[in-house]
Amino acid sequence: MITPANQHVTMSALHVAVIGAGAAGLVAARELCHEGLKVVVFEREDQIGGTWVYTPRVEPDPISLDPDRPIIHSSLYSSLRTNLAREAMGFLDYPFVARPGESRDPRRFPGHREVLMFLKDFACEFGIEEMVRLDTEVVNVKLVESGKWKVKSKTRGFSDSESESEDFYDAVVVCNGHFTEPRVAEIPGINSWPGKQMHSHNYRTPEPFQDQIVVLIGSASSAIDICRDIAKVAKEVHVASRSVADETYEKQPGYDNMWFHSMIERSHEDGTLVFLNGRVVLADVILHCTGYKYRFPFLETNGIVTVDDNRVGPLYKHVFPPVLAPSLSFVGLPWKIIPFCLFELQSKWIAAILSGRKMLPSQEEMMGDVKAFYSMMEASGIPKRLSTMIGLLLSAVARAWRNGERKCTMRVTRTDMLDRRHIATSGKIMTWFCKPMKTSASIFRMKLLIDASL
Ligand code: FAD
Repeated sequence: MITPANQHVTMSALHVAVIGAGAAGLVAARELCHEGLKVVVFEREDQIGGTWVYTPRVEPDPISLDPDRPIIHSSLYSSLRTNLAREAMGFLDYPFVARPGESRDPRRFPGHREVLMFLKDFACEFGIEEMVRLDTEVVNVKLVESGKWKVKSKTRGFSDSESESEDFYDAVVVCNGHFTEPRVAEIPGINSWPGKQMHSHNYRTPEPFQDQIVVLIGSASSAIDICRDIAKVAKEVHVASRSVADETYEKQPGYDNMWFHSMIERSHEDGTLVFLNGRVVLADVILHCTGYKYRFPFLETNGIVTVDDNRVGPLYKHVFPPVLAPSLSFVGLPWKIIPFCLFELQSKWIAAILSGRKMLPSQEEMMGDVKAFYSMMEASGIPKRLSTMIGLLLSAVARAWRNGERKCTMRVTRTDMLDRRHIATSGKIMTWFCKPMKTSASIFRMKLLIDASL
């Protein structure tokens, strides 16, 4: 049994279950192996790669509200190219370089298939594939009296037959991804609105929107890509965002059929949608590009780890639940980050702790840290659902660094936070100094220092 009290004991023969073989699970498996641990990776799909396994298939319920629906994991659309340059998408010692070959995509912001191929190359290079049990869904994970984790799984066999197994592990690393369970916008009157609703999770290609009037909600990466995709064929595209002033109404430059609005105020039985800016649109479709929820349907922790308004917690540094650390951990929960690099660093930390090479603080100290973080968020008026949103501030500083600036001065908004040390009060003008630590595998890493004079 691993507890915070005995975590310093060397545990080189520990058996660790990793749930999910996306980028996070693959790099976790590699790092755990590096530390001499025995690893099994459970993957419910028939191949590795997670999000990056594009499928034209969609869920039968286009808005994905039916809890019993068959789950399609990936939310990729056909036209998707990465929104990070490949230099920022490699692992620290395994860069995402352009590879020769007709089937490869050498662009700096490649199409989704190239990322899948990169992850497959990575898995092959480090012998990870041998550790993966494909077509095997983890259905229950529970700590039992022996101090081990009981992992129940179902494996799909020939002709869709299923076999169940139960295995016991010393530790579990959860890497199940968080871009599969849609969040939808709340719109007054929507239950009697006669049009079609859909979530971007089920968007693949623009053709079904030919000549339609589409209202798309959202302003993050998927919304930006999809509205442009759809504008090629739709009659009109109206993009609604809750993060702009109520009076906002702008024609999108470069498009004669796309407008940008404030949020929808109300929907009506006659098919019209009224925006906060007072405009009225008779729409065929509402497309929710409104993000996703964390979900761990297999995890049974007696309420020790919960998801409350999309806050997964309590987790020390978004990785370890203090009461169950270090035998339960999570990789990949933060967002607005540089994903693969973060997954790798989190995995190195988990592996070092599980092998006994590094130690965590005491359970009390970790819990104190989490509580201080939550209090700081509350005092700053940051909603719970943004607990894991690391990056607005980081990306601004990264941009400044790339532009050759050595400091980045900005007005801090409610959601600009790096972590609890860098939370700032809304409206305050702050200066961050960007300091390169080391350039490794084309990834720059920065140390952020708050100007002591503030
Ligand atoms: P996933 O890739 O989702 O992998 C989770 C795996 O767990 C899946 O294979 C799933 O089948 C498996 N799984 C889930 N539940 C179970 C279970 N019960 N049992 C067994 N297996 C299970 N990131 C970038 O760096 N650059 C980009 O340009 C970029 N674009 C994106 C565009 C979109 C539309 C989306 C949705 C995400 C994008 N991301 C991008 C973020 C991307 O999700 C991460 O880069 C990364 O792929 C996430 O990896 P992951 O391993 O955490 O999760």
